[in-house]
Amino acid sequence: MNTAATDNLAGPRAAAARYDAARVRADFPILATRVHGRPLTYLDSAASAQRPLAVLRAVEQYETRTHANVHRGVHALSQAATAAYEGARERARRFINARSVREVIYVRGTTEAINLVAQSWARPRLGIGDEILISALEHHANIVPWQMVCEQTGCTLKVAPIDRRGEVIQEEFLKLLSRRTRLVALAHVSNALGTVLPIQQMIAAAHAHGACVLIDGAQAVPHLRVDVQALGADFYAFSGHKLYGPTGIGVLYGREELLDAMPPWQGGGDMILSVSFEKTTYNELPFKFEAGTPNISGSVGLAAAMDYLEGLGIEAVAAHEQALLQRATAELERLPDLTLVGTAPHKAAVLSFTMKDVHPHDLGTILDAEGVAIRTGHHCAMPVMTFFGLPATARASFACYNTFEDIERLLAALRRARAVFA
Ligand code: PLP
Repeated sequence: MNTAATDNLAGPRAAAARYDAARVRADFPILATRVHGRPLTYLDSAASAQRPLAVLRAVEQYETRTHANVHRGVHALSQAATAAYEGARERARRFINARSVREVIYVRGTTEAINLVAQSWARPRLGIGDEILISALEHHANIVPWQMVCEQTGCTLKVAPIDRRGEVIQEEFLKLLSRRTRLVALAHVSNALGTVLPIQQMIAAAHAHGACVLIDGAQAVPHLRVDVQALGADFYAFSGHKLYGPTGIGVLYGREELLDAMPPWQGGGDMILSVSFEKTTYNELPFKFEAGTPNISGSVGLAAAMDYLEGLGIEAVAAHEQALLQRATAELERLPDLTLVGTAPHKAAVLSFTMKDVHPHDLGTILDAEGVAIRTGHHCAMPVMTFFGLPATARASFACYNTFEDIERLLAALRRARAVFA
């Protein structure tokens, strides 16, 4: 029987069993670090993932052999830098299956991408009587830019509620859609709870009401294969640093007709064709939205990160992460005084939890002393915390390099914390 047939029969469990996390781990030099004299157990990849050597080397190679400013130089280095920068854009296009590189705008990250759409698509179009619909799961980056547009234009923000499992209540979401809904902005995966939203059907429902849809894919691209054409999203935003790439680089995908019709967001070099004091004409896509010298080495690192993740196989990584998530969920449920927050059946590799009578920050500090790095706080999703009546949670998140041993270390550290606060 060939491997493909075995895969079909045994599915994700077999893929997860074959996955060699120890070998993957060796690609990430930082994971060999010791923290407070203990081996580092890094469980904070939802905040920022670590970078493999392949990414670090690609950036170093660019910086040591190729760097110059892009687009404006006739000299060899500038042309090589431009080729690297534009080659990386083509890599990003393939990664999300956009139709054209004109639909791939480099940004600093998800936050900047959403603000770009808010100011350049929404602000000029929306007014009193119009509505923007988001969900109660959103990161602040997918709330505040829309509140700003509401203040600027007089339009109204509507919020689809979630249930106690941390899922968007689909009937309520559908009820909130109307001909007044001009824009729907949704997370693909919740950073606070890990919930994967059924965005394909939500996008279709929004489109049926004539609304435009932006998807915040910051937590999705490291864990799921994203095909923007298959999803049908009008805009899709993500950050390089959650995808094993550098900070300060990300992508806004937008459908070309929409981007074409939008005014530039920032003015300056590179986004123009000609400038006089009487009139400036703007550059074509995607450059119209990329004013100033961009993050060139970041784009190179981002492309290397995409190569790396696809080299491992996104599906293989996802299957491994799901196996970790299932084991960790089962083990944490057994711990006394520990409550999981966010129990949707369809989740990405995030576990939010609280320990009875222990503030999450104290928990995080005790775990840190054991070398276990988790995140504690509101995870830039204060409304989610308010919904659950909590000031904060502790959050462990998994990535391609985490192992079952990491879960054992997390459990041991949690038991120690329980003993300290007993
Ligand atoms: N949206 C989600 C779901 C996130 O998890 C994050 C970061 O945590 C963001 C948006 C913002 O991403 P960035 O800070 O890279 O712009």
